[in-house]
Formats: sequence, structure tokens, C-alpha cells
Amino acid sequence: MTSAYMDNNATTRVDPAVLQSILPYFSEYYGNPSSMHSFGGDVGKRLEEARAHLQSLLGAEHDSEVIFTSCGTESDNTAILSALAAQPNRREIITSTVEHPAILSLCDHLERHEGYRVWYIPVDRQGRIDLEAYTAALSDRVAIVSMMYANNETGTIFPIETLARMAKAKGAVFHTDAVQAAGKIPLNLRDSAIDMLSLSGHKLHAPKGVGALYVRRGTRFRPLLRGGHQERGRRAGTENTTGIIALGRAAELALEHLEYENTVVRALRDRLEAGILGCVPHTFVNGDLESRLPNTSSISFEYIEGEAILMLLSRANIAASSGSACTSGSLEPSHVLRAMDIPYTAAHGTIRFSLSRESTEAEVDWVLAQTPPIIEQLRRLSPYWGINGPVSNGTGFAPVYA
Ligand code: PLP
Repeated sequence: MTSAYMDNNATTRVDPAVLQSILPYFSEYYGNPSSMHSFGGDVGKRLEEARAHLQSLLGAEHDSEVIFTSCGTESDNTAILSALAAQPNRREIITSTVEHPAILSLCDHLERHEGYRVWYIPVDRQGRIDLEAYTAALSDRVAIVSMMYANNETGTIFPIETLARMAKAKGAVFHTDAVQAAGKIPLNLRDSAIDMLSLSGHKLHAPKGVGALYVRRGTRFRPLLRGGHQERGRRAGTENTTGIIALGRAAELALEHLEYENTVVRALRDRLEAGILGCVPHTFVNGDLESRLPNTSSISFEYIEGEAILMLLSRANIAASSGSACTSGSLEPSHVLRAMDIPYTAAHGTIRFSLSRESTEAEVDWVLAQTPPIIEQLRRLSPYWGINGPVSNGTGFAPVYA
């Protein structure tokens, strides 16, 4: 049976070239990079090569601006907590309503238990940031602005340089969660107002358990983990050598494939979207269609339940998601779709398809062949769907699970 992996925003397959590059560092060169003896071989050198590959992917000025971490979540937490610790007189934070929980739950904690004021900037129906609300929230009381580069559910790309320049004008640190953007769209931190940027290995064909935080030279920094002198004292703990070497190789490959991602992968995603919208009625795409990651498609199938769609897709060997991995599994629509004010009847039936450079025409064909009959079957069972389409209860369409 044919299958299709369309859940690359949740995680990607480790690239075989990445896997090959790290195997000797499990069994032959397993020494600690800080040791004097040679059991580590050239592992210390390989870590620095990895740092240089990250520098290239990010278009950063210096390789010393890259700190290796354990994941995107650690990078996000480190950035915010560092900025707060370095500027104790500034007690406000700005973020958006559509961030990943790695940012939102930390902000919620800081607000409830540490006395910080957090501004959550809203988005419109297309997921675009409200610039007026952002302007109003900015002041010299703000320690850090953290705005995601691209949204994990819809792929919407924020105008990050504009947001960063506005934050800098008020003396605030600007951080961006680029976990979904890194490796998919070009980045050029050399000519940027961004102070800190997070990324995660498993979203770009490296293994899980490694990430990086970019910190611009001159940015005041306070480590999250204190201990040994690893990462120049900015992130203590024996290095995840295999993870870091893998991330370096993955960054190198991502840079080589950027053009492919933005042409071939984009065309595949567009064919998938056009194919579904062309033959399934009462269906629409979420996000900013003018400014979107090339691999992501969030499609709302009105009047049916996303979990049911996922189950039937899964039976057809199609992997997709009904929101971010953290929110799927609950019956509430994701906080991102709610922030965008997508009606309940559509938000509940929203599926995220996310492709990668490994996606194929055959996979798209398989999804296009399987999805329409699945939707038709589920709509036949829906109380809000009649013989000829959606049925009204006289007061408009009642929310299915409100
Ligand atoms: N930020 C965004 C936008 C994400 O999509 C994710 C993961 O889904 C994270 C942060 C967390 O990254 P990690 O899984 O490496 O902790």
C-alpha cells in the first residue's frame, strides 16, 4: 500500500547522510570533547565545524553567536529568561497569541508567578500580526519581544524585520522562534535587527534532542544552565556531540536545498492544496497566502471533526496533524485557529499537511486520491450535512462542539 508522510512540521526523518556522518562518534570517537586524551579524536573540531554550518544557514556574522542546546523549547526559554535577568528594571514582555507553547506557557508562568506583565498581540483572520496593537504595547518597560518567524500550524510568516526594528527603537531585546522557518526560507542575521533566534534539529532532518540559540554579539546574556565551561560558559553540560555534529550536517544540507524547498516543495504543496480545494466543497486554506512557508498547508474541512479525518487518513497510511502535536488529541480547536477567529464548524475540521524535501509526487497523488472520499464519508455521518450540503438549524450553523 502506498503511504504519505505529511507531518514534517511535527518532526522530520533524519537524513541518511546526517545519520552516516555521526555513526563513528557513537562507537569510535566517543571521548568527551573536553578531555586531553585522544578518545574523542577530532570531535572538538567537528563541533566547531557544526557551529560554522549553523552560522552559514543563519547568515550570522560570527560562529561564536551560535550556542547549542537540547531543543527548540530550551532555546526559547533561555532567550526569554536571559533577557529578563539581564534587564531587571524592565518588567514587561511582548509576544503573540499564536506562539508555540514553548513560549506561551513560559509567559503564562512569568505572568502568574513572577509578576511580569505580558502583552499578547492578536492576529487577524489570516494570522497576520496586529501592528497597531504591537505599536501600542511597545515601551521602554519591555525587556523582550518574542515573535515567531513562521507559524507551525499555518506557515504564516510574520514581518520579523519590521517587528525587530520597532522593538530595538524602544531598547527591548528581540527574539524570534524560528523553529519552523530555519532551513525552509533564507535567513540573513548579519543584516538584521534580530538579537536572538531559536531553532530545533528535528525539524530539519537532524535527530531529536538538539537545538541552537543564536545570540548576537554584544547582547547581554545570562545562562539557563550553570556548571561546566561548555559553550563558553553559556550552556553548561557535556555536549551532545552526535546531536551537534548531526545538526551541523543537517544545516549544511538545508542550505543546499533552500532553492529546492522554495520551488519544488512549494509546487508540490500548491498542487496538493489546489487538488483538494478543487474537488472538495466547503473547504478553505488558513493563513497568510501572500507570506507563508513553502511546505505547510492548513486546510479546514467544514462540518466534520478533524480527529475523525486523521483517523481515516491514518488508515490509508497518510500522516498529517490536526494542529500542533501538543494540541492534537484534545477536542478543543488549537489556540492558533481560535486566535484567528476561524469558526468552530471549520476549526474542528482543520488538518495540517506539512511536506519536506523528501516528499514526492506519488505521495501527493496518494493524498489526493484518498482524501475526497474520506471527507464525503464523514460528511454523510455529520448532523450538519444533508444530501445537498450543509443544513441550517434556522439560526445559522450551530457550532458542532461549542
Ligand atoms: N517552536 C515551534 C514554532 C515549534 O513548532 C516547536 C515544535 O513543534 C517548538 C518551538 C519546540 O521545539 P522542540 O520540539 O525542539 O522543543
